[in-house]
Amino acid sequence: MIQNFTLPDLLRVSPAALRNLQNRLISQQVALCYEHSPYYSALMRREGIEPRHIQSVDDLEILPPSSKYDFLADPEAFRLRPEGLPLHEGLLTKVIYTTGTTTGRPAPIYVTSHDQAAYTFGFQERQDLIGLKSTDRVCNLFPLTSFPLGAYSRAVDEIAAVGATIMYAHTGRSDVMFPINRSLDSAVETIARHRATVLWGVAGFVRRVMIRAIEMGADFTALRMIMTTGEASSPAMREDFRQRMRQLGAADTLVVNRYGSTEQGGTMIECCEGSGFHSGFPDQLFHEIINEDTGKRLPDGEQGMLAFSHLNRRGTVFLRYKVGDLGSMDHSVCPHCGRSAPRLSSNTMRTGDVIKIRGVLVNLGNLKGELDKMPHLDEYQIVIASEDPADPFSMDRFIIRIAPGQAAHHDLAERVVAEVRALTNMRAEVEIVDRSEIYDPITMAKPRRIVDQRQTR
Ligand SMILES: [Zn+2]
Repeated sequence: MIQNFTLPDLLRVSPAALRNLQNRLISQQVALCYEHSPYYSALMRREGIEPRHIQSVDDLEILPPSSKYDFLADPEAFRLRPEGLPLHEGLLTKVIYTTGTTTGRPAPIYVTSHDQAAYTFGFQERQDLIGLKSTDRVCNLFPLTSFPLGAYSRAVDEIAAVGATIMYAHTGRSDVMFPINRSLDSAVETIARHRATVLWGVAGFVRRVMIRAIEMGADFTALRMIMTTGEASSPAMREDFRQRMRQLGAADTLVVNRYGSTEQGGTMIECCEGSGFHSGFPDQLFHEIINEDTGKRLPDGEQGMLAFSHLNRRGTVFLRYKVGDLGSMDHSVCPHCGRSAPRLSSNTMRTGDVIKIRGVLVNLGNLKGELDKMPHLDEYQIVIASEDPADPFSMDRFIIRIAPGQAAHHDLAERVVAEVRALTNMRAEVEIVDRSEIYDPITMAKPRRIVDQRQTR
């Protein structure tokens, strides 16, 4: 039976059937935005675009892309006005917040009852891709902060949709009147006490939990899977996870790398290492790669800016929204698993990973990958600074801050310098620091691997 909002076995239907569904959904979503979205109704009227001009995802190309800058400047303008919508489509279920705004002020994402149901439905139906089971006991390792972050707040919705069990570590820091956060050691104890089968968090933090569990001799033998969201985990980082899981005597060593963002909702998952991230919700999200300058869509295989459009959302809605990541798309049937759900390239990177140092464009993503792989390196951070901070034209300093592990050899710093030289052709300084100076899991949501301290010029 064909339903009007999705298709049976959606991730394996023919590309033409999926495209038909997406075309129908996008025309409805655009019409809603034209009437109810302050941002997109103004944009469309300014551009002379009416809903009748966008009847398919291909027609979307006439709409100029929007970005984080537009959203952060006026988050309320991206929320559909509920007046005139059916009650459950407009009523709020919750509000979650994005991090990482330049002003430090989090931006709200409004989730209506309709959106909550869509989210629940998606995760209930797509677990053969994600890999959670109804028998799992999942530890939520996302930080508890002063305001609800997307990943922390949404984890329970997904676990509820699957029918599994969830526990919370409540690490992090909340600047509220009430002392509600627990320590890293307490997180390790929680996992052992409940015999958690799945750890779910930001890669850098999950790694720290395992390092601490090994130090504490904690019982992690029930653990079978690690899921990471929120920061890209390199193949080397995932191998590091598996090695630590083996060391802990874990039941299995599955590592699932999830790609997503608070703005999108939904998730993208690799069916196997390097397969590309399958869109888990192609009936709710349309992904495309666009040329940064022209806003035109790029063909499969070509690298550009990733943008997504909501297809069936009622709270905070985005169309052709650039998330700030570079990648490519592949719409062919996956040679690994046979799914037809579109794939985003596995080597997708944050645009912030490509940085000019001493006048040369350097891809620090590669360097991160190598440092992730280096044994006995507990934490690292790549810092770009000015030799003279007061001089905007000062020479750049290129510093690698490292925190050696307990069993590290004394030549670790030299090996880091050699690695940097091999990958970037540049000389770097090495600073040895305590691991909490780079990443304090109590006060920081995730490690900052790249810090650019230079004045903007
Ligand atoms: Zn696949």
